[in-house]
Amino acid sequence: MLIDTFNRKHDYLRISLTDACNLRCTYCMPEDDYAFLPSSKTMKEEEIFRIAEVFVSLGVTKIRLTGGEPLVRKDAPEIIRRLSTLPVTLSLTTNATRLHTCMDAIRDAGIKAINISLDTLDRNRFQLLTKRDEFERVRANIELLLQQDIQPKINMVVMKGVNDQEIPDFIRWTSEQPVHIRFIEFMPFSGNHWDKEKVLTWRDIVSIVEQHHSIVPLGRGQNETASQYQIPGHKGTFAVISTMSAPFCGDCNRIRLTADGKLKNCLFSASETDILTPFRNGADIIPLITETIRMKKKELGGQFTAELDQVEASHIQNRSMISIGG
Ligand code: SAM
Ligand code: SF4
Repeated sequence: MLIDTFNRKHDYLRISLTDACNLRCTYCMPEDDYAFLPSSKTMKEEEIFRIAEVFVSLGVTKIRLTGGEPLVRKDAPEIIRRLSTLPVTLSLTTNATRLHTCMDAIRDAGIKAINISLDTLDRNRFQLLTKRDEFERVRANIELLLQQDIQPKINMVVMKGVNDQEIPDFIRWTSEQPVHIRFIEFMPFSGNHWDKEKVLTWRDIVSIVEQHHSIVPLGRGQNETASQYQIPGHKGTFAVISTMSAPFCGDCNRIRLTADGKLKNCLFSASETDILTPFRNGADIIPLITETIRMKKKELGGQFTAELDQVEASHIQNRSMISIGG
């Protein structure tokens, strides 16, 4: 069992399959000339499986695949299939541009819900935000999931003056289809031009929705990042993820493994532990894992607090989001 000094039990592993991506969301992948990892430094399919087995032996019961874009990896279907043989709930977070190429593996793996990034419902704005023209493909692939009874959970990073005007449009979508929208507070990562003025807090978001609808709070489940809401009569639901203004670190159960095999005990941890090199050298990685969890800080990687006015993004030591894995 992976328990830290604040008595938090860690049973949820997020594995980044790659730091590469076919989109260029500026809040995530800041520079156009970002140098992707060479394949020699990226975990191979067999290594991912064997390392995941070690985590399962330590009590991990849930694995999420992320990236970069996990589905740009050619062997993503094989990785999904192999990990689904472990006694875990398996899921993934994807930009949905390549979902149609992996549907057989997703179905065979018994995946029931998929998190999809979509920050706008406007094709032109999509192109502006991602620097790619993939909007229609993403929408078609969300339809594909709905047809196959796989729940799409849409991650929308809300940025003031960029896409916040679309909150009502996303809510309208939940009235028509059983989609689940997760409005995420904009977070600071290396080079992503984070500015507190661009953050719309969860309270701001909920009050925008309340201008047009009566809403029923459903609460935040144990270890969940999202506080859920229902609008009576809507087929779908929505949630807010309040990392910046009301962090939920108290019952955090998440561990992150980057594509180059570095373990992060928090999304905002400054430090990371290389477990891939010792694993390749045949060493026992369990002591490294337990010590990394033991070192976990109480809140937000120990780097800032929920006082938005006090956050100095330039002082935060971290990777860019694309190389952490969301
Ligand atoms: N490519 C996949 C995708 O876009 O869903 C998986 C990786 S992406 C890094 C994982 C999640 O992180 C996405 O939902 C994305 O919106 C979110 N994300 C990236 N940068 C963020 C930021 N600065 N603030 C809040 N969420 C962010
Ligand atoms: Fe790629 Fe996802 Fe980051 Fe966008 S949020 S650049 S899709 S990894």
